Amino acid sequence: MPAKKSVKSVNKKKESKRKKECINNSKKYVANTYARFDLVLASGKDAKLKDIDGKEYIDLGSGIGVNSIGYGNKKWINTVTKQLKTLQHTSNLYYNKPYIELAKKLCTMTKYDKVFFANSGAEANESAIKCARKYSFNKYGKNADYKRYNIVTLKNSFHGRTMATISATGQEVFHNFFFPFLEGFLFAEANNYEDTVSKLKNNACAIMMELVQGEGGVIPLNKEYVQNVRKYCEKNDILFIIDEVQTGVGRTGKFLCSEHFNIKPDITTLAKGLGGGLPIGAMLMNKKCSDVFVAGDHASTFGANPVVCSGALEVLKIIDKKLLKSVEKKSKYIKSKLLKLDNVVSVDGIGLMLGIGLKENLNAREIVEKCIEKGVVPLTAKNKIRLLPPLTITDKELKKAVDVLCECIG
Ligand SMILES: *Cc1c(COP(=O)(O)O)cnc(C)c1O
Repeated sequence: MPAKKSVKSVNKKKESKRKKECINNSKKYVANTYARFDLVLASGKDAKLKDIDGKEYIDLGSGIGVNSIGYGNKKWINTVTKQLKTLQHTSNLYYNKPYIELAKKLCTMTKYDKVFFANSGAEANESAIKCARKYSFNKYGKNADYKRYNIVTLKNSFHGRTMATISATGQEVFHNFFFPFLEGFLFAEANNYEDTVSKLKNNACAIMMELVQGEGGVIPLNKEYVQNVRKYCEKNDILFIIDEVQTGVGRTGKFLCSEHFNIKPDITTLAKGLGGGLPIGAMLMNKKCSDVFVAGDHASTFGANPVVCSGALEVLKIIDKKLLKSVEKKSKYIKSKLLKLDNVVSVDGIGLMLGIGLKENLNAREIVEKCIEKGVVPLTAKNKIRLLPPLTITDKELKKAVDVLCECIG
């Protein structure tokens, strides 16, 4: 027994040295753009992660809503590796099957007409911004004093980190340092119809919003507000764009979150969960928008990559009705457990996109750090604890993780 113990402690020492080395090299060689947690991840299986020292964790963040089908899904890996060995990339100057099949499947599932493929959420939104501006210019641009290019977005929104998408993001903290920002974005107060319409009357060609503001603190919009804005846009030929980069692909228990709101946007953007871990962004367009772009208007070298698209096609097969139904059940379970705690003041969100509001004296990041020590990895959004677990997390894993989370919130 004593001999065994000493081997173990020697290993532990060596291993934590390895971890320290990783962290030091990351800090030394990689731009310091992230407030990283003290966690060096090495592998994953289903909803579990392992760090570099072999310690196991239950994942409640999915790499920010990306790994919706968990880690190491066999079908996904087989499809992706098969495509990787067959043809890893072609230019969009030629056709290949995976992106065509993915586009067909996406359009059939969502009843959209066409897709444009990009590599990220910001790029999908960038595409939507360009599409809206061109749609308006095509129709109204002959006027000499043409100014119908404004895009209304909501306060507290988040749409990405490129210059256009931070310009579109309705949070002051993002509007620093990088001047000048892009012109033509107006910010309306969420759930305030009058304010939104007054902005839309100011030469707007489109409105873009998240149905559940993710980075803003997991705040769902009011259904009636969204439906009324949708109606106003329809009547006034203003494009209605929904950013479903985080809410899409089953995250809320429906394939698209807009199904909960009974609306059909002109454009929906997807990214995070669509690739199962590989980088992809997609802009879905209805008939009004589907032929706005013509050859040369917009492009992406890596967009529609066959490996990525074959993986996304597999994700769409895995996220079936049964899985979507389980999302609702898991969501109810989490809410019921957390709302019992005195330190929790609210649990907002839809499906497996949840934000836990804490008593004012509590710090979400500190609680997440405690959770990580105890083998559970949640996220934060503002001063909320944010949960975006793999949709495929088992009831058993979820129970274990929620118990730890409750213990750490206290
Ligand atoms: C994450 C996110 C984005 C940005 O996506 P990237 O892939 O990081 O560019 C845009 N919109 C919303 C709603 C998001 O949650």
